[in-house]
Amino acid sequence: MTLIKNLKGMPDLFEEDLATWRQLESVVRETFLAFGYGEIRTPLVEETALFVRGVGEGTDIVTKEMYAFEDKDRHATNVCLRPENTAGVVRAMVQHGKLMADAEEKVFYLGSMFRRENVQAGRQRQFNQIGAEAFGIASPSLDVESMALVHVLLERLGIGNVTLLVNSLGDAADRPRFTEALRAYFEPHKASLCIDCQRRLETNPLRVLDCKVESDKKLAAGAPRTLDHLGDESKKHFDDVIEGLTKLGLPFEIDTHLVRGLDYYTRTVFEAVAREGLGAQSTVCAGGRYDNLVAQLGGRPTPAVGFAGGIERLVMLMKAANKSAPPMCPTLTLVGADDDGRREAHRLALALRREGVSVDVDHRSRSVKAMMKRADRSGARFALVLGSREIQEQRGDLKAMATGVVVPVALEPAALLAAVRAPS
Ligand code: ATP
Ligand code: MG
Repeated sequence: MTLIKNLKGMPDLFEEDLATWRQLESVVRETFLAFGYGEIRTPLVEETALFVRGVGEGTDIVTKEMYAFEDKDRHATNVCLRPENTAGVVRAMVQHGKLMADAEEKVFYLGSMFRRENVQAGRQRQFNQIGAEAFGIASPSLDVESMALVHVLLERLGIGNVTLLVNSLGDAADRPRFTEALRAYFEPHKASLCIDCQRRLETNPLRVLDCKVESDKKLAAGAPRTLDHLGDESKKHFDDVIEGLTKLGLPFEIDTHLVRGLDYYTRTVFEAVAREGLGAQSTVCAGGRYDNLVAQLGGRPTPAVGFAGGIERLVMLMKAANKSAPPMCPTLTLVGADDDGRREAHRLALALRREGVSVDVDHRSRSVKAMMKRADRSGARFALVLGSREIQEQRGDLKAMATGVVVPVALEPAALLAAVRAPS
């Protein structure tokens, strides 16, 4: 029989990796809450039209990366696995009336996204993102706060050597001027652009600046800068963002050619890029302002700023910075020396587990020697052997595995709890 394997780009994850994921997730949740974001969970499957309208018709995501299929239960509506979560969040906020006049709402999410991509290091087909979206605030101080959040997240995860890149794409009024300038620049070189970019030049020249093909990147380096085509208001907004970042002492670099692969961004765009540890896929967090998306998806016009970060890439950086968390290991291994001892071990294990202490206990009547070996291999901090003598005396010897130091302890849950929780 041939073994069935997982699909390419859709990895299995085990405790060895997930210990660090859990740590990341708890730091991320705490940090989002600290910045005033509450959690939101939206479905993994949405109508395809949401992303066509939200992310944009000419984007890579919509043209070639979506897992879309007909839902036969719903009059053959075309649905897809979500490729990103901003559109879904906006849909939910609008649909449930969370964005009424003057609303200020901040939400965060963690979850899986799906894109049919060329699988390579740092690029999966099922991957996971953290993200934060803030609605109802037009002020540049929100853009600054969102970037501060990225900084604090990276800091608290122990990830250094990441540069925050910032640019402005201007707003809808500025866009045609800039698009024209880009067309005029690239048109004479059209034949040397990649096939995708030849199409992008027609549909959305901005996208050419985001191309990953080396020769296109070289050409793009000399292209006109968005910053030279901003209207007065966008210019003021950008200047205020830069001033805000500077005043808070948040390091950044202006990258005049930074654009994003999704159509909804207006004005501020930013990326956190790792200087080492990720190879070619170096962007860990990316986001910006999207003042038109809510209205575009049927809500009342509401300014917004958000970003998403790739969990896999963040975990890779934590590992590179020696910040990975050790896999689960028991605090205490209880070893029964005889039948009475094994019964007592199970009684004490239950009491300690009720208090949240991780306890390993034997289910196979192993010998004391085998259990001590197991305690050693598992990395348990303590071991305690229980036999008829210990039960009779209601005392045992708690052994600290690392040092071999033994302390006497009463065989009752409160005393054991205090002993294993005492600072070593
Ligand atoms: P890229 O330019 O790398 O394709 P993108 O513009 O498609 O990125 P976003 O949609 O803005 O990226 O996603 C934000 C973050 O999510 C990325 O910076 C990255 O960390 C992560 N990410 C995006 N696509 C993938 C993927 N296929 N596999 C793993 N992580 C991903
Ligand atoms: Mg992409």
